[in-house]
Amino acid sequence: MLKLNNISKQYHRHGSAVTALQPTTLDIADGEYVAIVGPSGSGKTTLLSILGGMLAPSTGKMQLGTESMYDLSVSARTRLRGAKIGFIFQTFNLIPYLTALENVQMPLCLGGVPKEEQVDRARQTLERVGLGDRTQHLPSELSIGQQQRVALARTLAINPALILADEPTGNLDPETREQVLAMFDEIHKEGRTLIVVTHDPACAARAQRTLRLVNGGIQDSPAGNAARCVA
Ligand code: ADP
Ligand code: MG
Repeated sequence: MLKLNNISKQYHRHGSAVTALQPTTLDIADGEYVAIVGPSGSGKTTLLSILGGMLAPSTGKMQLGTESMYDLSVSARTRLRGAKIGFIFQTFNLIPYLTALENVQMPLCLGGVPKEEQVDRARQTLERVGLGDRTQHLPSELSIGQQQRVALARTLAINPALILADEPTGNLDPETREQVLAMFDEIHKEGRTLIVVTHDPACAARAQRTLRLVNGGIQDSPAGNAARCVA
């Protein structure tokens, strides 16, 4: 699904360069569940942003399916991202004056889905995450865990092949965290590719593979090493 060839990233600030990601060559297969772990400042968000087509690397190429992501025009890249990639953020990014249903409809609306189908799909997806009885609530009327599930529904509604999440369980109590992780297991079983940046050993332990970042360099570990990797 994703092929990185010699991808690196330097940021330039006030004339000096910071290397956020060292040259990285890496394949992520269709349907893999990958955790990205590492200390603060080690390059996790940078890597995830590059994987998501949101941040051009300084060197190298990245293929998503058959497309070379950063050789596409900005508009073609935006279209590819919209069709294939779903994002989940720690801060949910729900729109405060829209109901749960309208928040889930939003990306469908932007994708040109007809109104009636938007409502049907949004409703079904909210039911799927256990919020069928909360469709008319505003984010402020929902618990943190419910807000995260609305965000998850909003991502799932577009039916993305690849889901990227940055610290999705960071703000959650243990019970809600378990609900979100159970949803991730389900999403993974459906054959979607899941890449999750996390500080949470329970989350990393459920992935098949762990990419540990240290000072922008990646160490790759298969399943079973996850708990050790986040220690
Ligand atoms: P993490 O998500 O693991 O905390 P980041 O990918 O956010 O790490 O950051 C990696 C390194 O790049 C850090 O040293 C950070 O300060 C630097 N960095 C991140 N974003 C920028 C930016 N927009 N401009 C300059 N430096 C940045
Ligand atoms: Mg980060």
